[in-house]
Amino acid sequence: MSREGQSEDPRMVIWFDIDNTLYSASTKISHAMGERIHAYFVSMGLQEEEASGLHLKYYIQYGLALRGLMHHHEIDPLEFDRKCDGTLPLEDLIRPDPGLRKLFEDLDRTKVRVWALTNAYKNHANRVLNILNIRDQIEGLVFCDYERPNFTCKPEADFYRNAMMQAGISDPSKCLFVDDSKQNVISAKELGWGRCAHFYEAGLQTMEGGKAKTLGQNGDATAGTDGIVVINNLEELRFVWPDIFSK
Ligand SMILES: [Mg+2]
Repeated sequence: MSREGQSEDPRMVIWFDIDNTLYSASTKISHAMGERIHAYFVSMGLQEEEASGLHLKYYIQYGLALRGLMHHHEIDPLEFDRKCDGTLPLEDLIRPDPGLRKLFEDLDRTKVRVWALTNAYKNHANRVLNILNIRDQIEGLVFCDYERPNFTCKPEADFYRNAMMQAGISDPSKCLFVDDSKQNVISAKELGWGRCAHFYEAGLQTMEGGKAKTLGQNGDATAGTDGIVVINNLEELRFVWPDIFSK
């Protein structure tokens, strides 16, 4: 039973991460994000090296640099968001993707509800979905609520549990999940999410915590992890989970 006391929707929910999942890491958007976060640290009066060190430290410790900034420096998270994600030239980096739209259109909505699950704030999430021309394909968006003190994010279990509450789904085995982060996928699996796909573009560069890394190095693959499929193109979902597509 849902919170409203009505029967729960029997369909599964497929959750899509947004950044570096619905578009490729080859866009280098994560680099542009990293540069802006670095500039924010420097604007607080830190030297370049100090800024890089603290950025990485907070990323590792809190999952998001912003949470460390809020905890230790009492910064305004919405100002941070405006200055970092808000200034990304996304319109120059990504464009509507007809193939991606078709993939979403072909999902069988009698079987799955389609939600997005992001560590970004809602402004950035909606902006990306609108530019990709799939906003109307996403029924619900769970984002990091920067306006709440002590907000959670992936890969923390509470973030996933809260997402399920928002979507009104109580059975974790009915959750399907696609994300480019190994740790995010493993956390979902540990919570019992039924099917998880690690979107993994080996060989491409991304940036995490202000540090560039090449995918495929340092054990970031989930190959061989029980119950997790690895895909390097979202089209592969049609083959690994054929039952949720109508064509
Ligand atoms: Mg991602």
